Amino acid sequence: MSWDRVERLIGKQNLARLAEKRVGVVGLGSGGGFAAVSLAMSGVRKFVLVDDDMLEAANVVRHVADISFVGRSKVDAVAELIRRRNPNADIETRVGKIEHHLDVLDGVDLLVAGVDGEGPKYVLNQACLDRHLTAVYAGVYERGEGGDVVVIRPYDGPCYACWAAELREGLSFAVTNEELDYGMIGADGTLEAEPGLWLHVVRIAAAQADLALNELLVGADVHKTMPGNTVILANAALEILDGHTSLPYSAVWVNLERDPNCLVCGEPMRQRAALGDEAETAAVSLADLMNSSGIVREDGLGED
Ligand SMILES: [Zn+2]
Repeated sequence: MSWDRVERLIGKQNLARLAEKRVGVVGLGSGGGFAAVSLAMSGVRKFVLVDDDMLEAANVVRHVADISFVGRSKVDAVAELIRRRNPNADIETRVGKIEHHLDVLDGVDLLVAGVDGEGPKYVLNQACLDRHLTAVYAGVYERGEGGDVVVIRPYDGPCYACWAAELREGLSFAVTNEELDYGMIGADGTLEAEPGLWLHVVRIAAAQADLALNELLVGADVHKTMPGNTVILANAALEILDGHTSLPYSAVWVNLERDPNCLVCGEPMRQRAALGDEAETAAVSLADLMNSSGIVREDGLGED
């Protein structure tokens, strides 16, 4: 197996650098599976793959894994597809919900979030803030008419929570929790409206993989500074900004900022200080004081 073609494009040193980066891909549906294999084909060699799902016959028309993988976990299927592109790949796999496998993120250099729905994204957001781990999130809009990709660098710009709140306020079309991301399974476990054809989903996933690759090359000569932290891609004609219809296949870049009052990444102590002494006293709980002073509670709550 030869990496000549990739080496010629990005350089020997950069390829070696990519081969040493460990990338976590959480969620291996249409988008996450495509992003994982695409990263492997671009020189990433070390992966951590997490997904709780089995590949079903209904998935096959919109998944990198074909009918020969039906009945196997998506994690195993994607791991095998990566090894077919790079037999030297180093892949750790976990079958289960990310909530139960957050420890795998400890040794990861970058996270690619391919999870369905907002709940798991908020779990990942907190885990990434805790670890100062950069993550690339993607969402596909209803019927695959477009989607967005954002690079979230903890405490350097918005976290996923403040980003999502600001994006949804700013977009001229409705993106709510009905945003279906890559997934097709509803809250009750049944099939929901299809988020789009494979070719519309993978267009968003290709941008996600590309931005992930760029992020792995920060500091290298081939790294590109992007016009913002967020790209909104139109697959169909889409009114992204008020009064302006974006043409099919066009993109709008925006840079969304961190919300200093964000309940997830904000700075509560600084906010309280801004309210004045009286308010500060009232707002700080005993638990906060104990936490900030390093006092360990010895009442044994929760130990039994
Ligand atoms: Zn935030």
